[in-house]
Amino acid sequence: MRKIIIANWKMHPDTPEAASALAIAIEKELPSPPGADVVVAPPVSFLMPVAGMLKKSMLGAQDMSAEGQGALTGGVSWRELAALNVRFVIIGHSERRINCGETDEIVNKKIRTALVHGPAPVLCVGERDYTDADIPPMVSDQVRLALAGVKKESLKNLVIAYEPVWAISTATQSAGADTPERIFRARLTIEKAIADAYDQAAAKKVRIIYGGSVSARNIAAIVGEGHMDGALVGGASLRAEEFGVIVRRAIETRSIEKRRRGAINLRPLA
Ligand code: PEP
Repeated sequence: MRKIIIANWKMHPDTPEAASALAIAIEKELPSPPGADVVVAPPVSFLMPVAGMLKKSMLGAQDMSAEGQGALTGGVSWRELAALNVRFVIIGHSERRINCGETDEIVNKKIRTALVHGPAPVLCVGERDYTDADIPPMVSDQVRLALAGVKKESLKNLVIAYEPVWAISTATQSAGADTPERIFRARLTIEKAIADAYDQAAAKKVRIIYGGSVSARNIAAIVGEGHMDGALVGGASLRAEEFGVIVRRAIETRSIEKRRRGAINLRPLA
C-alpha cells in the first residue's frame, strides 16, 4: 500500500509569507519523485499561497463542513476545497472533537460528504486517556460510527489516523509517542472494526496511519514494528528538515514492514 505522510500545521504559521516559505522548505526536503503521498495541510487562510508552492506534495485541509454550500457562517465547503485542488481533508481531529464539540454524528456526516464529493477524508480516532495495554472500545466505536452509511466501494479513498489524544505533543500532559506494540494493536483493532462493518477485504483497502509526537527518531518503529501505512505529523511538520527525514524513513521502512508482516500472526486481537 502506498504510504501517506500528512503535515498538520494547525494554526501555524501566522502569515502567508511564512506559510509559503515553510512549504518551499518542505518541498526541498522531499525526494523526487516523493515515493509516497505527502500532504501539507496549512491553516485554511493560507491554502491559496501554499497551493502555489507544492510540486511533489499535495494540498490538504484541516477540516470541512458537511454541507456543500449555503448559510453556514465560517464554514468551508467541499466545493471551495475542490476549487483549490485540495486532495485530502482531516476530519474528526481530537482538537475539534474536544474544543469544537464535534460529535461522532457530525464526523459521520463529514466523512460521508467527503467520500461522495472529495477531498479524500483522513478520519482521526483515538482515546483520550492512557491505558497501558488494550486499545479501549472507544476507538472501534469511533470507527464504526464514522462509517455508518458509507458504501464499501468508497472505502479505498479513506485514510484512518489512530491518534491517541494523550500522545499528541501539545496535549496538557503528553506522554510522548505510543509504543510500537500498542500502535500495532491499534491497527488490528481498526482493521477489525472495518471488517466487522464490511469484511476483511474492505479492511485491507483502508490506509491506517499513526499520529501523536511523531518524530524523525520514532517514525521507523511506527511504520516498521507498528505496521502503519504512514503518519499524521503535527509539531515536527513545522520543521522542514525533520519532516523530510520522517518522509524518507517512512518510505525506506516499507521492506521491513513487509518482511515482518509475513512473520506476524495478523489475526485481530480478541
Ligand atoms: C496532531 O495533533 O495531529 C499531532 C499528531 O500532533 P503532534 O505530532 O505534535 O503530536
